[in-house]
Amino acid sequence: MNVHEALMMLAANKLAICSDIYPDANMVNALDMAIEALKKQQPEKLVKCSQILFSCPNCKKLYNGVLNPRFCSECGQAFDWGI
Ligand SMILES: [Zn+2]
Repeated sequence: MNVHEALMMLAANKLAICSDIYPDANMVNALDMAIEALKKQQPEKLVKCSQILFSCPNCKKLYNGVLNPRFCSECGQAFDWGI
């Protein structure tokens, strides 16, 4: 199972739980947290701010494009540096 398939399963489960007469709010919250964490594992391209400055697409933290970390040190978003 890849990340996309896991996200689809979690979203389907959340939809099913939310359609219950008495949805389990804790389970919905747990599924939301899992969905958010998994989404950050999917690499996203950085936003180019200038020739040497890039920002995280999730939290907007700035990077200089020299060290090119694989993940944002602020929010954990995976990066795709193939700009
Ligand atoms: Zn970030």
